[in-house]
Amino acid sequence: MKPSVLLVEDEAALVTLLGYNLEKAGFEVRAALDGEEALTMLAERLPDLVVLDWMLPKVSGLEVCRQIRRGKATAGLPIVMLTARGDEDDRLRGLETGADDYVTKPFSPKELIARIRAVLRRARPSTSADTLVFADVRMDLAAHRVTRNDREVHLGPTEFRLLRHFMESPGRVFSREQILDSVWGPDSYVEPRTVDVHIRRLRKALNGANAADLVRTVRAAGYALDRPSAPLDAAD
Ligand code: CA
Repeated sequence: MKPSVLLVEDEAALVTLLGYNLEKAGFEVRAALDGEEALTMLAERLPDLVVLDWMLPKVSGLEVCRQIRRGKATAGLPIVMLTARGDEDDRLRGLETGADDYVTKPFSPKELIARIRAVLRRARPSTSADTLVFADVRMDLAAHRVTRNDREVHLGPTEFRLLRHFMESPGRVFSREQILDSVWGPDSYVEPRTVDVHIRRLRKALNGANAADLVRTVRAAGYALDRPSAPLDAAD
């Protein structure tokens, strides 16, 4: 099946150019000309990835990005942002808000397609919709069962949701606020520190006595699920 891309861009000439090149590269493309249309289209059908322009009429790219990350169905949707040249702040804010990557204008269609492919590769950890796999961890969503290296891992409901959230976007760094939004819901009144408590429990259950730590603490930023690059640091 062709991977599908929702292209959100208000510049008609760019939509035509990118649409043509993406289709030639084997993608199925739909386009939205503003943020509002993009959100409507996402509610109708989920693509495999969104290419999102930063500067959009009606609802800004930043706001679309935020809403995608907040939505239950769309929280794990990969996003590649298009930003204006030199707009370092926009870029950082975009990544903070949850974009997976960005391409700076002007760019070649070839460059964008390479980024899209890389993001899609990272975003596809599962073997089927019901099972998530990362490293030696297997998550059977239907049976609510987690194993690591074939050993059963017992998780509380919050740790289960937390792990699922990480396993849907391995390698991606989530801030405590983003984790709260996705795992507890945007309307919860839970303190960011609560995330640390559940991360600790998740690590304990997942790592057992001596397995390598798959949860990476990113100083001042948050947490990510990653393959350990160095032996486990016993501290956290
Ligand atoms: Ca634009």
